[in-house]
Amino acid sequence: MTLVLATHNPAKVREIAEMLPRVEVSCEDSAAEETADTFAGNALIKARAVAARHAGAWVLADDSGLVVDALGGEPGVRSARYAGRDGDTPANNALLLKNLEGVSDRSAAFVCAMAVIDPQGAEHVVEGRCTGSILAAPRGKGGFGYDPLFVPDGGELTFAELPAEEKNRISHRARALAKARAIIGGEA
Ligand code: IMP
Repeated sequence: MTLVLATHNPAKVREIAEMLPRVEVSCEDSAAEETADTFAGNALIKARAVAARHAGAWVLADDSGLVVDALGGEPGVRSARYAGRDGDTPANNALLLKNLEGVSDRSAAFVCAMAVIDPQGAEHVVEGRCTGSILAAPRGKGGFGYDPLFVPDGGELTFAELPAEEKNRISHRARALAKARAIIGGEA
């Protein structure tokens, strides 16, 4: 089977393709504006935009981000553009550290919502979370985004220090994908 991933983020495509080794994955930028205030809402916006151009295909879109308890859930759905410019990771990470200066509660979670649209057009939404804490300074060179600042609960290494296979085993995206796979069924 083939699955169209509604994303332009090569890091996400790589992670999802690695987690679905028996599926032929192609990708297409939805070009849709993420106007919803929930991860699930934004995932559905992206999936619907791509499904409209691929009748009869399986389509999967994800929307994900970092939710920090002491910041009232920020950066949340604005994770990619927290510091203003979309995808400016160094600025986003610097702003997160600045906003957490002197804050002792460092608890946070990565959240991933996935919207799946099946070949009949039915919509399904699932969510995965990975809880952890935010360091005071970045560590590690792997992954992307906030990975060098995030240590998952029960571990000591950041997502940017862990081998990709390990991140892919425990991440919010892996947990959402496990649920999405149950929808896609035996074909995945
Ligand atoms: P999206 O592309 O709208 O889902 O935005 C995702 C944003 O959330 C990314 O640009 C990152 O800033 C952050 N993010 C989501 N997943 C991860 C992850 O696995 N590691 C690090 N940052 C992530």
